[in-house]
Amino acid sequence: MDTKSDKKDLEVNVPVEEDIFSRNNKIADQNISMLEKHHVHAIDILGSVGSGKTTLVQNLVRHLKNDYRITAIAGDLTTSIDADRIQEEGAPVVQINTGQECHLDATMIQKVLKTLDLEDQDLILVENVGNLICPSAFQVGAHQRIVVVSTTEGPYMVVKHPHTFMEASVLVVNKIDLAGAMEVDLDKLKRDALQIKPDIKVVFTNGRTGEGIPEFIQALNLPKK
Ligand code: MG
Ligand code: ZN
Repeated sequence: MDTKSDKKDLEVNVPVEEDIFSRNNKIADQNISMLEKHHVHAIDILGSVGSGKTTLVQNLVRHLKNDYRITAIAGDLTTSIDADRIQEEGAPVVQINTGQECHLDATMIQKVLKTLDLEDQDLILVENVGNLICPSAFQVGAHQRIVVVSTTEGPYMVVKHPHTFMEASVLVVNKIDLAGAMEVDLDKLKRDALQIKPDIKVVFTNGRTGEGIPEFIQALNLPKK
């Protein structure tokens, strides 16, 4: 491969990317303003496919729907599997099929916010597209970001994605019942996260049984109703 032409490529691409991110950040700020005007709290939920994001959102809806008016926004490449599961818990869901895009961005969220009566909302749960890489670079305009990591993903999910955790308020380590079989040291995952972000809250859950969900909700530190 010709390294000279590689380098040239890089020089062309970097400014374009910066422009995409700064434009996205501007729209994300608009989303935050829109939400705050109507006292709506929004949470961006990141995690790989199969980490248990949808199950955790289902748990949140189950526990919080009597106290908060909740809408979920579910990002997925092509399917509505997650949206259907969340809707079954009794919260309205807006599905965003991103097609080829492996993340949600602020413009997609803004389009959805404009269709909602925000006066009629307290909490918006955004289930981002399942991967831990690029969703972390695209703010959607949420008040907090939580990251879900499953023990089945092995012991290195935190150290391998430092940027994802730098902006997260809560790390959820899910499927703790499988930690032994996966030889994952839960305390080590917690130490890894605290090293990247000293004030991150780390909670341990089993989304299928509901273990750890009250601690998770407490860690969210939601605005009081
Ligand atoms: Mg899901
Ligand atoms: Zn992406």
